[in-house]
Amino acid sequence: MSVETAAQAAYLVAALLFILALAGLSRHETARAGNAFGIAGMTVALVATVALAVTRDMSSTGLILLVVATLIGAAVGLYRASRVEMTGMPELIALLHSFVGLAAVLVGWNGYLHVEADLSGSEAALLDGQGMLGIHSAEVVIGVFIGAVTFTGSIVAFLKLSARIRSNPLMLPGKNLINVGVLVAFVLLTAWFVISPRLWLLGVVTGLALLLGWHLVASIGGGDMPVVVSMLNSYSGWAAAAAGFLLENDLLIVVGALVGSSGAYLSYIMCKAMNRSFLSVIAGGFGIEAGPADDRDYGEHREITAEGVADLLTTASSVIITPGYGMAVAQAQHGVAELTRVLRDRGVEVRFGIHPVAGRLPGHMNVLLAEARVPYDIVCEMDEINDDFPGTSVVLVIGANDTVNPAATEDPASPIAGMPVLKVWEADDVIVFKRSMASGYAGVQNPLFFRENCAMLFGDAKERVDDILRAVTTSARV
Ligand code: NDP
Repeated sequence: MSVETAAQAAYLVAALLFILALAGLSRHETARAGNAFGIAGMTVALVATVALAVTRDMSSTGLILLVVATLIGAAVGLYRASRVEMTGMPELIALLHSFVGLAAVLVGWNGYLHVEADLSGSEAALLDGQGMLGIHSAEVVIGVFIGAVTFTGSIVAFLKLSARIRSNPLMLPGKNLINVGVLVAFVLLTAWFVISPRLWLLGVVTGLALLLGWHLVASIGGGDMPVVVSMLNSYSGWAAAAAGFLLENDLLIVVGALVGSSGAYLSYIMCKAMNRSFLSVIAGGFGIEAGPADDRDYGEHREITAEGVADLLTTASSVIITPGYGMAVAQAQHGVAELTRVLRDRGVEVRFGIHPVAGRLPGHMNVLLAEARVPYDIVCEMDEINDDFPGTSVVLVIGANDTVNPAATEDPASPIAGMPVLKVWEADDVIVFKRSMASGYAGVQNPLFFRENCAMLFGDAKERVDDILRAVTTSARV
């Protein structure tokens, strides 16, 4: 069997492994196996690609460069991934998406320099002979466009998620016209480039796409960022697929399409969960206007001590815990799991209510609770538990804010209006764990904190949970 045939067979195996990886990652119980399939698929793909390149026309210098680049990339990737905190994961993912976008731009430019810029060369002659020159030019310009949008869009997402820039939506006058104008210009320039490929045309398309990517993500506000992250995931897949066409690499096309379509589907699911229009979000917040500044007087909030919460919990019959981003920051999940165990041992019914966008990445809370060994059967999705708040004795809101904000259901002018939220305020008592009265990721004030049945337990969530645990266990001994 030739290396060429073996490599194509290996590509098929790798594609199947990637499909198994996606299937595995869709459930808690099989996520580890899914990850292992993904790693195996990527290893097979890399070995096959290097073997193919060597048998085709790679010089020994090229091979050395490839090995060195792979080793450096693998070392940096391993170092970063082993050190990243769970809370830093979304920004790392956004940064990695930007690399895929940049790679697609570089592959596109490389394609232009090898073919269109050297029309008397052998590659151009071969493509011309097959009548494929125009198709190649279209691949170049489309690949560069998708890659450049992904690149700057992902960088803005990284800056917003890591709080290096504010997460508020950028509201340029005529922002929708800018987006539509750039798309129309792209279509016209693509047609022009296919008819007459010029360096300056490719430069203009690259520049416009870089601006569009930046503007699309900058225009999306804090609360809609989860959709943007999965949308950029999708764009990075299409950018990879476009690079696959240029490099004539079938596996890259298949994997790019898998990532592109699964990312698009995830964005759609998240939009449904947040009651947002999918088209509006992917069009950079099309139709979303800035709400009026909020200078309302919400009244006074009430504070409670850890001992006070311990008293409430020990006399409660049922407790629901709704964790959010603050639990991840404080790394309070182990204390929360211990508190759950202690309360259940005393006959209190304890369950968790998980909002689909709690934290900073899909499944963030589920991962933390699984890590702390909270039984899966008491961890409920929002829809499963949202009708159970009336009649619940105590709700512990641990580091959550936007996902429990009643303004989403009660105030049509709120920037998060329409987003389904956990209706924690319907319980007898609500305790909110946070460090201050600051707003959540979407930058919106939360009227829950001022309700009569709500009390604030200020401080780091891990320390406060430990204080409650101490108080609960001491009261058990007395
Ligand atoms: P929020 O981001 O709305 O609020 C988190 C709260 O945690 C803050 O109010 C903060 O208050 C508190 N907090 C932070 N650190 C600590 C700490 N050490 N101890 C105690 N409290 C702490 O969280 P939610 O999970 O409710 O909502 C998620 C938000 O993130 C949504 O707006 C969602 O759209 C967005 N998002 C979600 C993504 C996803 O895929 N899940 C991706 C990107 C964004 P204080 O500072 O006063 O302590």
